[in-house]
Amino acid sequence: MHLSFGKLIIFAQWLLTRRPTTVAIDITHKCNLKCLHCYWWKQEHPMELDDGQMVAFLKGLRAGGLRAAILYGGEPTLRPEICRAADRIFDISLAFTNGVNGFPRLQNGQWILSLDGPETENDRIRGEGVYQKAVENLEYAARPPIVHMTISKINQNSLERFVREMMALPIKGMGFSFVTPNRGMADENLFIPLAQRNQLVMELLRLRKKYGEKVGFTPAMARHLLTHGAFSEWNNLSTCPVSQRVRCYRSDGRPKVCTYGDQADCSRCGCAAVVAYRGAYKPFDYQTLRVILGLMTPAYQARKSPYEKDVENISGETNGP
Ligand code: SF4
Ligand code: SF4
Repeated sequence: MHLSFGKLIIFAQWLLTRRPTTVAIDITHKCNLKCLHCYWWKQEHPMELDDGQMVAFLKGLRAGGLRAAILYGGEPTLRPEICRAADRIFDISLAFTNGVNGFPRLQNGQWILSLDGPETENDRIRGEGVYQKAVENLEYAARPPIVHMTISKINQNSLERFVREMMALPIKGMGFSFVTPNRGMADENLFIPLAQRNQLVMELLRLRKKYGEKVGFTPAMARHLLTHGAFSEWNNLSTCPVSQRVRCYRSDGRPKVCTYGDQADCSRCGCAAVVAYRGAYKPFDYQTLRVILGLMTPAYQARKSPYEKDVENISGETNGP
């Protein structure tokens, strides 16, 4: 596995310092969907920086010492040139997409495809036809994307079905967040109460055991989500790693508190990135570091799951001479 000098520095900074390393930025305020669980389209948004301004802004952040970028929106593929520019400017770039526009080619960057369950559940949340379109587009991706699922009341009962479906597709791996509501909002149709969430966390661990390392959810990550684990160590703004490591910006370049927005309820946070970071470093855990390496190194391959081998054996039987 090849790790560039820049990536090694980021890993070292995470291990040895408390410096910010990463920018999380909404590179556009436009989106082609209106997902049920998304705070984005329910809020007013400022104008976005034009291409020249955005590139200059990103370069300024890099010059200020931030080496990694996470691109959000809106929908980042609506600005493919900005995705490519960010990919050139930063040592690491991750770009989230709903998959409808495909996956523009990036030199080093990693696409993260947001899908929220099998077709019925996903399309109930993201809109009719979205699952099919995104899955079709996987075939044309230059490199396999990572699939990210936001677990909510709508899709909580379809975890295994979804994981099984994804394992048969050309993806690099899977990640899981839980819906993070805004402060003061009940969100009873989507948010899973924390006690119930604990059970789903354990279910994710069972799925990793069954389907293998491509299920990017480790025991150390689970510990940081479980209410009887280490959840209370970080679920407020002052202790969450976002406040120390990540600088978040709106599409007009103004800062915001969190990628989930200024109103996100830290006490009910279900962010995969935070638990991956804490799982890998608090205390150090190599298994979780491998999940992060999977995000950051395009050439990285997760170990094959026993399930994949089964699928290969089965297809060998059916397609054989
Ligand atoms: S695709 Fe992303 S930004 Fe657009 S509505 Fe859905 S969750 Fe929100
Ligand atoms: S909502 Fe979650 S990720 Fe955002 S600042 Fe709060 S704890 Fe951190």
